[in-house]
Amino acid sequence: MSDISSDVIPSRFRVGCGGLSASLCVMFGTLSLLSVLAFHFPAYLTIPELRAGYDIALLRAGLAAIMAACGALGLYALMKGRIVPASVGLIALTFAALMGGADTPVGTVHASPFYIGVDWFVIGLLSTGIVFIALEKAAPLRPDQAVLRREWSLDLMHFFIMHLLLGFYLMITHAALTHGLSWARFDTVVTFIQSLPFIAQFLLIMLSVDLAEYAIHRWYHRGGFGWRIHAVHHSSETMDWLASSRLHLLEALFTRTASLAPIFLLGFDTAVVNSYAMFVGIHATFIHANVRFDFGWLEYFFVTPRHHHWHHADEAGAHNTNFAVHFSFIDRMFGTLYMPQNAWPALYGVSDGEPAPDYIAHLAYPFFPNWAGKRVKA
Ligand SMILES: [Zn+2]
Ligand SMILES: [Zn+2]
Repeated sequence: MSDISSDVIPSRFRVGCGGLSASLCVMFGTLSLLSVLAFHFPAYLTIPELRAGYDIALLRAGLAAIMAACGALGLYALMKGRIVPASVGLIALTFAALMGGADTPVGTVHASPFYIGVDWFVIGLLSTGIVFIALEKAAPLRPDQAVLRREWSLDLMHFFIMHLLLGFYLMITHAALTHGLSWARFDTVVTFIQSLPFIAQFLLIMLSVDLAEYAIHRWYHRGGFGWRIHAVHHSSETMDWLASSRLHLLEALFTRTASLAPIFLLGFDTAVVNSYAMFVGIHATFIHANVRFDFGWLEYFFVTPRHHHWHHADEAGAHNTNFAVHFSFIDRMFGTLYMPQNAWPALYGVSDGEPAPDYIAHLAYPFFPNWAGKRVKA
């Protein structure tokens, strides 16, 4: 666990010293290179469900903008003496330009059994990162908390791997549900559900997924192997938009399968499922974000950042509470709601054992807790 003061802005990231420009140059250079590679090898580096809806002209314009920003930031960082990171970013940019840049022709698209979601990572990082960093700056819960706070690179690694594996997860969960639950899916139920108005289907999908996730979330918190998987998520000592990505690969698999089960069984309209998928990605990020919003009476019905921050709190009374992901009244119903009036937690994390803060330790922790665990705190 940590206190807030340990996350103040390190000197190298203060305005005017070139540190932030150098970091953004590395990020934009890397994303440019990855994007150009995705243009060259779409069959292996993009997700079929996503690329079907791409506007290529728009993507090229976005890539050109990122490359221009990378160049400008890199030059500024060089002038400020940030030689190594600026050079790394500019070298990545040079390779991206030499390989075709924003005019790279789209490579052969064919069905491939193996692919990773480089496109999903680039789009996800740019859109989510820009929107939520702006939101956290506009209405911060902790104004002194830096964007590049402690363990940000570890959470970015989680974000990276999770986005690359999206296609793999979709494939596995789809296969598991069609093979394991087809017997319980009835046409009459599906027809009835699809006859409901959009908003009714949307609320029903939220409720059914929330109940499934509530059940598996409580199971994680019972201890043993389930807890060791989930302890990776709870090991975050700083709450922000990126902390939502810290998940063990098995937790992502189990939770996604559990939450997709009611969607599969009830057979919602495709437009509802797609809208919900977009909503859940934004909402899950929002409830972890470093934002202070007062939702008043709505907090008794919906899961808000304050509700989920208390779930991550390392404070007496808050442990094993607030399991719901959409509707806080589910926690009230089952007696697990914890919402002190107008208060936010001071500390986050796990005080009695957690994985060490590196990616391999996070993956290994459920299987080898002694080897991969951080020191046990008093
Ligand atoms: Zn939890
Ligand atoms: Zn969380």
